[in-house]
Amino acid sequence: EQLYRVKRWSNGYFDIGECGNLMVVPRYNEANLKINMREVIDEMQAKNIAFPAVIRFHDILRSQVELINKTFRSVIEDSDYEGKYFGVFPVKVNQMREVIEEIVDVGNRFNYGLEAGSKPELAAALAYNTNNDSLTILNGYKDEEYLRLALLGRKIGRKVVIVIEKFSELNMLVKLAKSMDVRPIIGLRIKMMVKGRGKWESSSGERAKFGLSIGEILTAISLCEQENLLDCVQLLHFHIGSQLTDIRAIKEAVQEAATVYTQLIKRGVPIQYVDVGGGLAVDYDGSQSTNDSSCNYDLSQYVADIVTGFKQNCDLQSVPHPHLVSESGRAITAHHSCVVTKVIGEINPGGTQFPTKKVTGEHIIVTNMRDIYQGLNDDNYQEAYNHIVPLKEQAIQAFKLGVLSLEEVAKTETLYWSTLNAIESITEHLNFIPEELKEIPELLSSQYLANFSVFQSAADSWAIEQVLPVVPISRLNEKPSKLCSLVDITCDSDGKIDKFIGDETVANNVPLHKLNKDEDYFIGLFLTGAYQDVMGDMHNLFGRLNEVHIVSYDDDPKDFYIEEVVKGSSMENVLSTMQYTPEIMAQSVKRAIDRKIQQGQIKPREGVDLIDFYEDCLRGYTYLK
Ligand code: PLP
Repeated sequence: EQLYRVKRWSNGYFDIGECGNLMVVPRYNEANLKINMREVIDEMQAKNIAFPAVIRFHDILRSQVELINKTFRSVIEDSDYEGKYFGVFPVKVNQMREVIEEIVDVGNRFNYGLEAGSKPELAAALAYNTNNDSLTILNGYKDEEYLRLALLGRKIGRKVVIVIEKFSELNMLVKLAKSMDVRPIIGLRIKMMVKGRGKWESSSGERAKFGLSIGEILTAISLCEQENLLDCVQLLHFHIGSQLTDIRAIKEAVQEAATVYTQLIKRGVPIQYVDVGGGLAVDYDGSQSTNDSSCNYDLSQYVADIVTGFKQNCDLQSVPHPHLVSESGRAITAHHSCVVTKVIGEINPGGTQFPTKKVTGEHIIVTNMRDIYQGLNDDNYQEAYNHIVPLKEQAIQAFKLGVLSLEEVAKTETLYWSTLNAIESITEHLNFIPEELKEIPELLSSQYLANFSVFQSAADSWAIEQVLPVVPISRLNEKPSKLCSLVDITCDSDGKIDKFIGDETVANNVPLHKLNKDEDYFIGLFLTGAYQDVMGDMHNLFGRLNEVHIVSYDDDPKDFYIEEVVKGSSMENVLSTMQYTPEIMAQSVKRAIDRKIQQGQIKPREGVDLIDFYEDCLRGYTYLK
């Protein structure tokens, strides 16, 4: 098994090089063309781009868009399916302009469009999805303004589909379409009976937030008939949840939707498209299982189940095959971006070495612990462990009763942890380790302090225990021997990552490398391109990260250049969004310094330096330097 299961979660986009560095394979299935991540970092450092930073590989993004379109096209062709594929990318998954631009650019030749779920996303879709043959699908609850914007899209020739999520939206739309004199394209979202699998399974079923029951669909169709809008009802939509871990849920959903579709066609509703929503999962933990962070299928199986599911149902009922739409977001963008940062410190329980020299009159607990430590050898380590653990308990009790002094407690702490460390060194090379000693590495595990904020860069890891791969960028040809979890720099105990992937993990820890003095130990948090990139919050006022966009040369994809640097938030930026005015803040600090200068407590030259420093900080990056 490869270290950190790199090949398994990365869809082939990352690998470990012989040099021990993490390598990027920017183009799907071109495994011999690799970019060395360490070189990317070196180039960023040469350009003074501070970490933590988001690194986006635009070739990976382009590859994923091509991959989904080509897969649908080839399965459609191979199975003699008569409809076409018109995929859309859901803007909410990564709203960054550069991401949307790239997706629209590469998707253009496949008529790949955008999905929007709110007015601002629709505004972006109208401006960026300028291909009149691709779809713009509108989900989410809608008010009159949202519908007007959508109809504006129709007026300028776009294929904007208004998906009715709630019956009242249809009443509003009927009126507006008349008053604006537009023929809308109407989609109906089915409230599905089938349950999704995974964390988002409440997206379907009777209590789902969105969609129309069968009764509402029939009423909606009657209303459209009365209003002479039946020919506008062209799309049937469903979405049973994101990150569908089990392919069976997809099969069942296709079956249910195909039944609704064929029956509606037979009633004369001119539906042309069936939209299967999102849900195509990402195998974050590389286990190919029905774990919440994994899935038991791949893209081609997903596509095959959709295409053949509709084909079989339609053929049986002798109705035409619909065009197929999918709104996959996660699977398109997750792989292309990662967060890279440095480990800046280590917090470990046995970190301090207090001198443990014997003094006359010391408490017997201290003497006994020292004897155990000094007498430890290859034959008595288990006995030593059995003795030292209760002695440490006794030391705590004795301290609480005022029997042990502070110095004595400090000595017992040092002796206890030193003994555990020594036992670990003896046992780590043994073939057989007694069961109870297996807990020692975990007891000795460290917390590596990394310069980032979980709340900004890995929101789902905090909110829903989403597992994201954590991999060091270098030393991957060296066995990592230090069990660790990661803690961030926010003042919040929840600011940590303690769920990891792979066989090397032990409880809440993953093995990383022991930190060498003066070494920059970079780690990457991967698969952050979907949702994580854009959902982050400003906890502790750590703002957006510096970002670089990496592009491979067309004629030599293993060579790369930094196409763009997007500066992360400065202190001024984040403070301004919280209604502070940095100029007024600087004036206030300056006034305080001036007063001290007048009182002779600060020299004028020092005062000028201090205010310059304060202003420099305001203009600077929010993360640690
Ligand atoms: N479409 C709709 C209606 C959604 O609610 C979502 C997300 O939950 C998506 C598409 C994107 O889903 P995914 O990222 O799982 O592909």
